[in-house]
Amino acid sequence: MEPFESDQASLPRNMIENSMFEEEPDVLDLAKEAPAYSLDPDDTVYEPRSSRLLVRGLGENDMDEEEEDYESSARLLGMSFMNRSSSLRPSASPYSRQEHSSSCSVPSTRTVLVVVFVLVVVASVAMVIYFLPKCTLTKEGCHKVNTTMEYIYPLTTTGELFPWNSLRLPSNVQPVHYDLLLHPNLTTMTFQGKVSITIEILNDTKTIVLHSSGLQIRKVTVQDKDVKKLEYEPWQQIALKLSEDLKKGQKYVLMMEYTANLSNSYSGFYNSSYLDKGGTRRVLAATQFEPLSARKAFPCFDEPAFKAKFLIRIKREDGYISLSNMPKNQTLELPDGLLQDEFEESVKMSTYLVAFIVANFTQVNQTVSDTLVSVYAVPDKVDHLDYALQSAVKLLEFYNNFFGIKFPLKKLDLVAIPDFLAGAMENWGLITFREAALLAGNHSSLMDKQVVASVIAHELAHQWFGNLVTMKWWNDLWLNEGFATYMEYLSVEKVLSELDITNDFLSMRFRSLAKDALNSSHPVSAEVTTPEQVEEMFDSVSYEKGASILLMLSSMLTEEKFRKGVTEYLEKYKNLNTDNEDLWNSFPQEEHSVVDMMNTWTLQKGFPLVTVHWTDTHVNVSQEHFLLKVNKTAISSGLWHIPLIYVNESCSTSPNCTQLLLLKDKTATFELPTSVKWMKFNFKNNGFYIVHYGEEGWKALSNAVTENRDVLTPADRASLINNLFALSRLGKVTFKQVMNFLAYLKSENHCTPLIEALHQLDHIYRLLEKRQDRLVSKLKNYILNLFEDIIDSQSWDQELKVSKQELRAALLEVACRYGHQNCTKNAMRVFQQWVASNGTQRIPGDIMKVVFSVGAQTGAGWDVLFEAYTHSVVDTDRRKMLAALASSQDVRRVLRLLQDSLHGINVQTQELPLILYSACRNFAGHLYAWDFVKENWEQITQKFPIGSFAIQNIIVSTTSHFSTQWHLLEVETFFRSLKDKSFDMRCVHEAMETIALNMQWMEINLEALRHDL
Ligand SMILES: [Zn+2]
Repeated sequence: MEPFESDQASLPRNMIENSMFEEEPDVLDLAKEAPAYSLDPDDTVYEPRSSRLLVRGLGENDMDEEEEDYESSARLLGMSFMNRSSSLRPSASPYSRQEHSSSCSVPSTRTVLVVVFVLVVVASVAMVIYFLPKCTLTKEGCHKVNTTMEYIYPLTTTGELFPWNSLRLPSNVQPVHYDLLLHPNLTTMTFQGKVSITIEILNDTKTIVLHSSGLQIRKVTVQDKDVKKLEYEPWQQIALKLSEDLKKGQKYVLMMEYTANLSNSYSGFYNSSYLDKGGTRRVLAATQFEPLSARKAFPCFDEPAFKAKFLIRIKREDGYISLSNMPKNQTLELPDGLLQDEFEESVKMSTYLVAFIVANFTQVNQTVSDTLVSVYAVPDKVDHLDYALQSAVKLLEFYNNFFGIKFPLKKLDLVAIPDFLAGAMENWGLITFREAALLAGNHSSLMDKQVVASVIAHELAHQWFGNLVTMKWWNDLWLNEGFATYMEYLSVEKVLSELDITNDFLSMRFRSLAKDALNSSHPVSAEVTTPEQVEEMFDSVSYEKGASILLMLSSMLTEEKFRKGVTEYLEKYKNLNTDNEDLWNSFPQEEHSVVDMMNTWTLQKGFPLVTVHWTDTHVNVSQEHFLLKVNKTAISSGLWHIPLIYVNESCSTSPNCTQLLLLKDKTATFELPTSVKWMKFNFKNNGFYIVHYGEEGWKALSNAVTENRDVLTPADRASLINNLFALSRLGKVTFKQVMNFLAYLKSENHCTPLIEALHQLDHIYRLLEKRQDRLVSKLKNYILNLFEDIIDSQSWDQELKVSKQELRAALLEVACRYGHQNCTKNAMRVFQQWVASNGTQRIPGDIMKVVFSVGAQTGAGWDVLFEAYTHSVVDTDRRKMLAALASSQDVRRVLRLLQDSLHGINVQTQELPLILYSACRNFAGHLYAWDFVKENWEQITQKFPIGSFAIQNIIVSTTSHFSTQWHLLEVETFFRSLKDKSFDMRCVHEAMETIALNMQWMEINLEALRHDL
């Protein structure tokens, strides 16, 4: 799956997750230790994320609802008991005194004693009865309690024992083949289904347990005999109970007929709609199953390791088409006038990759290496399909050659779905996309095309990584996502070099380092059990860190050896499931053990800080965990096998200049042939670590780039800037040192270092702006002064190179937001020309957002833009318009957008994260955005599941700019008050950690900044 960042469509799209059990014992863990920032004492103890999981060695959901009710009632009773006693006392005393003073007789001591005794007895009996489990007084008695750690089985809603007690399915029944017939009714928004599953028995059993969620199952048979079905809804499982054993080695067929509603959310078999050019609402039905939603469309064994073949048939009305993973075999006309499409039997695959669509789409196609590649969209957008088709054809050819295994299906469909939450989903043979991630018009900018091409590249890579070879369980999701992300950059660089994807990959690695520096991060390969934890695996660590460490390995091994390892892995495990070790073992273990090295990167969270010192020819390197600590006294540990690839002044810009040292220990020393003035480690930032050169080392590097910036590659210059800011957050360098280094930027002209510096400085600016600190204007002047020449030299016309477009977009966005006159004046001029042309004048795609953002600041401009938004059919333009509309200083308009989007009126609900993100970039919108999230939390989580990357984005973008104790408490109190599982989400802990770190940064740097700026 390709998540879609709420940010700009032009950046790679990412998200977040959860560390659970594997924190190193000596590392501070927010989940376990009290935070250093002061909170109310009652609030300081974080509930260990794993505590409820470990209650009985079962999953978090194991505690069934009755038990939870019981537990919370007991807690409530205790509280009300205390409240009552404490509240009664003060209020009772004055009244009793008054009564005393009147004429009532005083009871005798004996009467008082008797009454007290009776009350105590009654209260005790009542409490005993209350605290006894409900089952004590029933005929059935109690099931065993957990003191003996024996299995505890949950109860179904009908009060029967459910015969299975784990969130994971038993492994004694293996599905082999599914025969699935579906009839979605696009008028009633319901569907009927019939599934026959051929299963193979691995151990004798009388019970079959599988997944089902929200399906009304009317009939169940095994080998044509009716069987009893039990359902345990919290785990989305059903159990079929048989009177006789199913025998080991035998195959059986279980059949189920069911009905369900087409979902209103973005998962399962869901309905979607759009307005066509004539203003008529058109409906369609599509699927999104990854990770856990195939069970919402048909009963199935919904875990990635249960691979099977699928034969799918779909009933539809004339006027629609249906699509599924495989090519269509035949269409039958049914007596009731409906048509029934039957698709070929699929290859062996996991349930989350099954897909089907019923819609009135149109398509273009082309054949490449015996595979028919088609791109589908709604009929009005038929002109926007060609770029996707051309890119898909080139990329498919590339992958066929690169992996040495040909794409195994005869057809490959790429379909743009009008209402789609992720960026795209890699369903085998039927890849679904958000429209903005697949459609590009003739006028789309290269930056927009870069998004389209890279999302296609990512999803095509999944056809091998994920579909052909699949992770055993979601803990190794990175095997899918890290690889697809890495391959996305590699393939686009090779096949579509005009898209200049390299800079984007570097920015992605910087972002990933920043996320992984938090204590709330988690190992790449992390244990997961509950549905929420599975959702949370779709995050920056799985995607971006996963891709980054693969690049690091490839840089060490050489690209050719890396490719060889990858193809061996795919060949060996095709159609199977794998884990971490299977991958590492496929690489040549010549000089260094790849297994040992890579385990240090995937099994522990975070990354190292490498500190370098040299005198003459003698070099000393050491490593420690780069951890942004809220608690300064916390000790962190960790040791990585770090491929240190370095250059020095004698030769520094070509890969031929590089030297390699694998640092496995805490420290190491080595000798250089001749003494050098400076060294640069982590060539092109291809390794996943940060380097500190000490005061003298930084000075030497600063002098070197000031003298001649080209002594280092642009990526290395950007890497130095990134590392300096990171070190300043760690307190290893002062902000003054950062500013001294940045002075060289006056002579910089390459996009990568400039964008990195601008991004880092603007981050600080936005924090200060939200605090309304007096420093804001000083910092703004400093930033504008540093970049003024290059800002003013930007053109407002067509720009052909992607890197130039990226730089221009970044510079002008900041300049106009800061109110730089030259920028706002030009943007307004372009906006007014666009309005005068009735929206027909083409604005270059990379500056469209900044032009619209300036235009949207007036009421009239906003209205014109909103009107254009509702009528535009170019999706990449629409997202830029929406981001601009959300940047309005008029909060009523921003709130209107948020409300509209939440209810899917005028603005699709899928865009809510983008609107929130854009609103939070400005002072006016940011507080309202957070309030909106709080007030509408329930509705938001109905649309976007807890743990999903959309929710992660929403939380991070609405809270990450806070930097005060008040906000910290506010955020924590809100999430703690929720009855759902939100507080357990990693991104909530990340949000609190980020606020605390922001506060800490302010404490340390604010005074220095006042002095230095
Ligand atoms: Zn993916």
